[in-house]
Amino acid sequence: METDVVLVVGAILLCCGCGGLLIVRLSNPFLKGLGWIGGSFAAGALGSAVLASPGISADASAIIAYTSILLAYVLLHIGILELMAGKPRLPKLGLTLLLVQAIAFPGFLYIHRGRQLYLITLAIMLAVQALQTATLLKNSATDGMHPPIWFTVVLLVIFAGFNIVRGLALPILGTPSRPWALNPFETMGAIVFLGIGLGLGFGVFWIATAKSRLSLELLANTDPLTGAYNRRSFIAWCEKELLRSSRNRQPFSLLMIDLDHFKKINDHYGHENGDIVLCAVAHQLRASLRNVDIVGRWGGEEFVALLPDTPAELAVIVAHRLRHTIESLSIAKLQTTSIHDKKSIAVTISLGVATYPNQANNIEDLLQRGDRALYQAKADGRNCVVQQALSTLPQRPDPSGATAAGRSGSGQFAESI
Ligand code: GH3
Ligand code: MG
Ligand code: MG
Repeated sequence: METDVVLVVGAILLCCGCGGLLIVRLSNPFLKGLGWIGGSFAAGALGSAVLASPGISADASAIIAYTSILLAYVLLHIGILELMAGKPRLPKLGLTLLLVQAIAFPGFLYIHRGRQLYLITLAIMLAVQALQTATLLKNSATDGMHPPIWFTVVLLVIFAGFNIVRGLALPILGTPSRPWALNPFETMGAIVFLGIGLGLGFGVFWIATAKSRLSLELLANTDPLTGAYNRRSFIAWCEKELLRSSRNRQPFSLLMIDLDHFKKINDHYGHENGDIVLCAVAHQLRASLRNVDIVGRWGGEEFVALLPDTPAELAVIVAHRLRHTIESLSIAKLQTTSIHDKKSIAVTISLGVATYPNQANNIEDLLQRGDRALYQAKADGRNCVVQQALSTLPQRPDPSGATAAGRSGSGQFAESI
């Protein structure tokens, strides 16, 4: 097969890839970064087309085509950065490589009157850029995204290795020159370049699909303000835990958590600061619990925590620890809405504890028991922990089944410097 035919077919396929990526980007608001990657395919297609154009001199074709290919990999890096991080970031290394390419190499080519050194250096630059993208992807792999990320990382590493081998082999194989129709090394090189390019397109598409699915799952299962699980998915976690607990005969506990006098915080500092407090509390609850524990937002200023494999006595200790941690928290507030001089807000929480199977035999029952205990904690003066008694399920507003499990001072809404 002639090298030119491979390049023309490659240019057409890369153009199709570019169009496909742009359509996917336009149809999905989560997939930021795909526009850059579409641009990367367009640059690759340009590089291929220029290499295949007989009317362009070998030197000009080398500079335009290889600059386009380097640009394609820098754009791929920008796109992957944005796709993984959700916001655009400056690709310092890629821009430096492009700058070196744009300024130094035409002069370098002119002085040396030969493309060999230029092509060797370019192959190394492509390898460096591909390895940087591979490292970025490897480091940003999260649960549910490993297969497409590893597929793409392997392709990038093969591409980098291929470039290094190609760069080092150039002095032995000789610099390619047009016409290259009968040069099998060039044909093979073009096939590998384009094959990897298209494979990367597939990899990016696979990553984007996984990312899109995860984003939708996140949207459906979490509260957008605090990032905690929403009520529906929290109940789903509880039901899963109930089955697991029944199988393993291990108790699990539930904490119902309510911010004390939160309405006053909103009234004094404004709703925006109220939101900041909610986020800070949710963050602190997550940070203070184990990875296996689940934190949900039950609604308003009320949170819930599911503690797998946790008997009642241990759950009370955990609840006390959380109460103390939140009490010690100093939450920085927005300055703009402030009519006070103070810089931070202090908040306390009340907690109700209920445990399965000791105090309930289904989730609804357990949640109700936790709620009763929380109600009792509020009645006891707030900023305290109440454990639901093992006996009868009391009726609100007479929470007689709850037993105080400790408290420290009355609930407060305060501010500190
Ligand atoms: P208690 O100690 O008895 O729990 O008193 P409280 O003031 O915390 O409880 P109350 O139920 O009287 O008020 C809850 C307040 O939480 C009222 C509501 O405006 C506020 N709230 C609910 N959701 C949000 C939210 O998403 N953001 C903000 N800033 N406030 C919220
Ligand atoms: Mg409250
Ligand atoms: Mg409440």
